[in-house]
Amino acid sequence: MSIAENLDKIRESIPEYVNLVAVSKTKPIADIKEAYDLGIRDFGENKVQEFLTKYEKFGNDIRWHFIGHLQVNKVKYIVGKVFLIHSLDSVKLLKELEKRYSKENLYANALIEINIGREESKSGILLENLDELLKECENCNNVKIKGLMTVIPIGDEESNKKYFSQMKNLFEKLKSMNLKNIEMKYLSMGMTGDYKTAISKGANVVRIGQGIFGKRDYSK
Ligand SMILES: *Cc1c(COP(=O)(O)O)cnc(C)c1O
Repeated sequence: MSIAENLDKIRESIPEYVNLVAVSKTKPIADIKEAYDLGIRDFGENKVQEFLTKYEKFGNDIRWHFIGHLQVNKVKYIVGKVFLIHSLDSVKLLKELEKRYSKENLYANALIEINIGREESKSGILLENLDELLKECENCNNVKIKGLMTVIPIGDEESNKKYFSQMKNLFEKLKSMNLKNIEMKYLSMGMTGDYKTAISKGANVVRIGQGIFGKRDYSK
C-alpha cells in the first residue's frame, strides 16, 4: 500500500485528540516529503546524525520528535531543532539539556521515558529512580517536562494492556501532584502493532513508522 493509503487508514482509526507522529527513521527524504504533502507535520527520528541530515532539508517546518536514546555528548547538536524529546531517562541527560538550552536561552520540551517492562535491552528510567529525576526536573529552568513516553515489551494483547494501563496510572498520578516544571500533557505510547490498544488505555501521542512508510530495511 502507498503512504497515502496507509495514512488514510490510520487517520480514520485514531480520534481527533490523538497526535500522530510519523516515524521516518531509516526512510528517505522523499518519503518524508510525501507524508508532508499529505499534511503530516510531526516526524520522529531516533539517531542524531540521521535527524540532522533530514533537519537540513526541512528545518522547523516540521515538528521533529526525537524518540531514540539520546547520548549526553550529542545534546549539543540538537539544541533548538527538536519540538519534543521523548527520551529523557537520566539525571545526567537532564543536566546536559539544562546546561545547553540555558546557554542558548531556549527551552527543551521533554517527555520522561519509562522502562515500564524493566527490560535491560531498553532505555528509559526504572520506576524506583523516577523520584530522583523528578526532583531534579523541578530545579530546572530550561527543561520543561510535558509528559511520559514508553516502549513496552513485546507481548500479547493482555500484556500490552497491562503495561499501557500502568503508564496511564502513573501519568494521572504525576498530573495530580502538580510538580514545578512538570506538566502531564502528552502520554506517548503505541506503535504500528499496538497503537489502537494504547489509545484505548489513554495514549494521546502515537508513534507510527512501518504502518505509514512500510517495512524498514536496515541492511542499507
Ligand atoms: C521505530 C520506533 C517506533 C515506530 O515503530 P513502528 O513499529 O515502525 O511503528 C516508535 N517508537 C520508537 C521509540 C521507535 O524507535
